[in-house]
Amino acid sequence: MQYIYAFAEDQTLTNTELGGKGANLAEMTRLGLPVPAGFTITTAACQRYLTNGQAECDFLKDDLMKAVQQLEATTHRQLGNPEQPLLVSVRSGAPISMPGMMDTVLNLGLNDQTVEGLAKQTHNPWFAYDCYRRLIQMFGDVVYGIDKSIFEAELTALKRAKQVASDTDLTLADLKQLIQTYQTLYQNADDAQFPQSVTAQLNLAVEAVFKSWLNPRAKTYRRLHQIDAAMGTAVNIQQMVFGNYQGQSGTGVAFTRNPATGEPGLFGEYLLNAQGEDVVAGIRTPEPIATLKAQLPTIYEQFKTLANQLERHYQDMQDMEFTIEAGHLYVLQTRIGKRTPQAAFKIALDLVNEGLIDRQTAILRLKPAMIEGLLHPVFDPQALKQAPLLLTGLPASPGAATGAIYFDAQQAQVAHEAGEKVILVRQETSPEDIDGMVVSQAIVTSRGGMTSHAAVVARGMGCCCVVGCAQLSVDTDQKQADFNGQLLKEGAIISVDGHTGRIYLGALGQQTGKQQAALNTILDWCDAEAPIDVWANAETPKEVATAFEFGAKGLGLVRTEHMFFGPERLFKMREMILADQLSNRQIALAALKELQLADFKAIFELAQDRPCTIRLLDPPLHEFLPQATADQVALATVLQISPAEIKRRIAAKVEVNPMLGHRGSRLAVTYPEIYQMQVLAIIESALAVQVEQGHAVAPKIMLPLIGTAAEMQLLKQQLTATIDTFLAQQAQTIAYQIGTMIEVPRACLVADQIAASADFFSFGTNDLTQMTFGFSRDDIGHFIGAYQEQAILTKDPFQTLDQDGVGALMRIAIQKGRQTKPELSIGVCGEVGGDPSSIAFCQALGVDYVSCSPYRVPSARLAAAQVAL
Ligand code: ADP
Ligand code: MG
Ligand code: MG
Repeated sequence: MQYIYAFAEDQTLTNTELGGKGANLAEMTRLGLPVPAGFTITTAACQRYLTNGQAECDFLKDDLMKAVQQLEATTHRQLGNPEQPLLVSVRSGAPISMPGMMDTVLNLGLNDQTVEGLAKQTHNPWFAYDCYRRLIQMFGDVVYGIDKSIFEAELTALKRAKQVASDTDLTLADLKQLIQTYQTLYQNADDAQFPQSVTAQLNLAVEAVFKSWLNPRAKTYRRLHQIDAAMGTAVNIQQMVFGNYQGQSGTGVAFTRNPATGEPGLFGEYLLNAQGEDVVAGIRTPEPIATLKAQLPTIYEQFKTLANQLERHYQDMQDMEFTIEAGHLYVLQTRIGKRTPQAAFKIALDLVNEGLIDRQTAILRLKPAMIEGLLHPVFDPQALKQAPLLLTGLPASPGAATGAIYFDAQQAQVAHEAGEKVILVRQETSPEDIDGMVVSQAIVTSRGGMTSHAAVVARGMGCCCVVGCAQLSVDTDQKQADFNGQLLKEGAIISVDGHTGRIYLGALGQQTGKQQAALNTILDWCDAEAPIDVWANAETPKEVATAFEFGAKGLGLVRTEHMFFGPERLFKMREMILADQLSNRQIALAALKELQLADFKAIFELAQDRPCTIRLLDPPLHEFLPQATADQVALATVLQISPAEIKRRIAAKVEVNPMLGHRGSRLAVTYPEIYQMQVLAIIESALAVQVEQGHAVAPKIMLPLIGTAAEMQLLKQQLTATIDTFLAQQAQTIAYQIGTMIEVPRACLVADQIAASADFFSFGTNDLTQMTFGFSRDDIGHFIGAYQEQAILTKDPFQTLDQDGVGALMRIAIQKGRQTKPELSIGVCGEVGGDPSSIAFCQALGVDYVSCSPYRVPSARLAAAQVAL
């Protein structure tokens, strides 16, 4: 087996065998770029070494000697020869870039003799001894595990003693003294010695790089980035070029474009008279690359040409390391540059416009998860590093917010009106809290999961939200809360990170998210590729406008109960629910209808001829019942009954298990007039917009919680009759449809029967998941963590569709539904509609569109396009 390949050798190996650094060094050599000569020891050698129990490197010794001899022939220098010493670097290079995780030794080949030789040959003793002290330092760190900082401390102490600012101001004598000191560090640490044998240096360094694959930093990095631990690292042995040669010498790192913003043009830093990682080590303050243009104009132009060539060759932004030795430029590394999400979109767009890549390639390089950060504010990453973490909950809605905590909605409102930025902190939220929620910078709850009331409402509003904080307990009466052992009073300042679910004490600096022009253009390209459409779940005019601004093709779920959350409406709603006779209920309904007419009109005006799916009322009624005595009394007065009577009626409505109780279409079976009112409000307002504005308004009326064909048939008949009578009176027509949510498992199993009277299906995956697992979506926060830790569930099924279980039911429903009606339109309107992997699965099942909250529409559009590519 061949374990070693010269950079210049003709071969077709990839990153897997050569590591990223080695593969690119070979590629650049073949391109004719100025790369110092060298060779790569493959990852296979590392694997063999590590599986041998790290016993020995004998299997490699002969090949290594031969490769060194070849390098000596190419460079006309010899390892260990004081007349013509060859110096090399020994560099690790994993198949997947693990920046700063592995080890490198520079200037290997120096000893007490060769350092003198190098000094003579170059007439530059200072330089020779600077290399030597660097070698002893790095070798000690990499091979003997003597911490870098111990060497650094000696260097700093010497600089201080000699009263010089920079390492380059030390004299030759100082360097020699430092080398003496370094040798004693070896003895102190390990009773070890820096080896004078250059062959021993090489073998030890190679072994150390192999072993560095197993160091704790590398292990952690691999775990965080899910990199296979079996791969091993390659080792690159390369002739040294010297940025510390003085004169026109230096070293630097540069990107072909700005990695923070994506702006084209070289971006980077360099230091003259420096070596290796001096630039990033912060020993001296480096110069921006633009300064090189003035300092060494020819080199700068050369580097610019080289950078362009690399970018065109690799068709992506490059992150390069270079060294200048006595006026000669060398490139030592190139790789695909890491970048911020903002830069990722800008660069993808520019590369397409520059003709380097096509649109499909650009789309595939981007990740849906990058987008949320572009739309919502984030905390300053520097500030986050030192921020005092209080606790972590579920990241229900992205964003970053700082504010004063309040424990009830009214107090929050009062504080908001007084000009304070507030954060609402509650055990859980309910419709009564809505006014406090809309004025809050963030919402935090101790209970509830990703589809709890707080989570759903916050996402709809684009408001930062963290739910299910197990270490938070809220004491509303005492106006205080225990944040993981820290007691905070009303008005205390916290910062909430909705991207991560972390909550910090005090204020943190933040960066505002802004929508990018590049993002919009690329998302338009996505729509052209996507085999599945993206609609939005939205109900207020503001949300609807946001949804269309973000590119939703229709509304997949307009929840109507949220329209009753304002105080006046909530009151009417309660009046309606608690009315004891039809006539009273109808009075309340008539008032609600007036309000609904305006709601729907506003939505249709925004939607124009885009489809609007409006779900009729679906609350577990208890969500609307007044809890506070004052509210109960007010209601009793209007209904002209005693407070005792109102209490009795509320008690009568209480259900043991409201989520499975008298809700959804079940309400319409007992109180048909509720849905009749709603459909009339829908059709009347649709008609008004159609007549006034000439849009072909397309309402899709959706019945929630249908479980049997007879339920569907009965309600469809009733509602069609109501609508058609009205339209006949008006002598008008409108293209309306009546369909159903599929969210009860039984509906999936009898979808063929239900489809007979349904014009469309839309999977309500929140309830379908809840009922398939029997998990309450409001309570899953208590135990989902344990389920994930023990790998019983790998993902929260309310966030990522459970393909095996819920997905199987969906497959049956689609197959049966289309068996009855081949053209049946089928959508998904649960939270998973915004999840990239769920989108791919839904598309494969034959779903026509997914619908998610407005702020998730952009990332869903990207995910939808990636499905096809
Ligand atoms: P890392 O993977 O941590 O970036 P490298 O192997 O790239 O480690 O080495 C770090 C630095 O050492 C390089 O950026 C370069 O400046 C310097 N270096 C490595 N090899 C050589 C060499 N042959 N000649 C000069 N400098 C080198
Ligand atoms: Mg490094
Ligand atoms: Mg490097």
